Amino acid sequence: MTYLKTLSFVSAMALATTAAAEERFITIGTGGQTGVYFVVGQSICRLVNRDTPTTNLKCTAPSTGGSIANINAIAAGDMDMGVAQSDWQYHAFNGSSEFEGKKVDKLRAVFSVHGEPFTVVARKDASIASFDDLKGKRVNVGNPGSGQRATMEVVLNAMGWTEGDFALASELKPAEQAAALGDNKVDAIIYTVGHPNGSIQEATSTVESNLVPVTGEAIDKLVADNAYYAKAMIPGGMYAGTPDDVETFGVKATFVTSADVPDEVVYEVVKAVFDNFDRFKGLHPAFANLKEEEMIKDGLSAPLHPGAIKYYTERGWM
Ligand code: GLU
Repeated sequence: MTYLKTLSFVSAMALATTAAAEERFITIGTGGQTGVYFVVGQSICRLVNRDTPTTNLKCTAPSTGGSIANINAIAAGDMDMGVAQSDWQYHAFNGSSEFEGKKVDKLRAVFSVHGEPFTVVARKDASIASFDDLKGKRVNVGNPGSGQRATMEVVLNAMGWTEGDFALASELKPAEQAAALGDNKVDAIIYTVGHPNGSIQEATSTVESNLVPVTGEAIDKLVADNAYYAKAMIPGGMYAGTPDDVETFGVKATFVTSADVPDEVVYEVVKAVFDNFDRFKGLHPAFANLKEEEMIKDGLSAPLHPGAIKYYTERGWM
């Protein structure tokens, strides 16, 4: 009896082990469905899931609130990986700014992706030609949890403003803000996002509007003082109503994970992307100019995950 029991216990264990080896689910935090993070996550999962028969990894990339929400979910162990702006990767790992007292020690960098200019779009009838003109206007500052909302707070601080300087500071998600601009619920919207993207295209084609330069002393100082910011430019002619280049500043979209995620899992994800790099770059126009050698270092401030280092070393990149 005892022997039988032991046997069935052993075979149950064996079954459980086989089942575990059959599937390991990984979740990638993205952003709003109209953004580029969603495409990053979906694209990575698409490539990872082509290899499921050999790797046993099954990848999903749900829509989320954005950078801060993704880092918090990784810190809590609710998600394995996620996309986050380079400024919030830095602050999370160093316990600064929004992450003061909430340092995410186990945050690990995997690679960076596209650049994300801090983008302001305004209705033409609101006559907003510079960031200063936003004072007293109705501005969608973005949903809490998003990178643009947190970076907007940094910008306001740097300018010595608060949200009280706006007639309205709404908290709509990226997917809602183009319509709000078109319906004249707000005068301007903010999005830190890769270009070109459908969301800004929607905003600029539904209502007469223009992109607003984000320049001046406060911005120069932010860029000079912080390695995770850089000057950025949105090319003229990319969106209706803005024929000339628009100067602003920006960050990098980065792909991050936790030290708790096993090396072989991160290795397989990185391998899926870089073994199929041309295919990956074809999945969104914002990925067209990505270069491997920049992606493994630019915008990364948390330590690289060992699983990523293993792949980059094998390829001779490190
Ligand atoms: N940069 C935004 C954020 O951190 C997301 C942009 C996107 O979804 O492409 O929330």
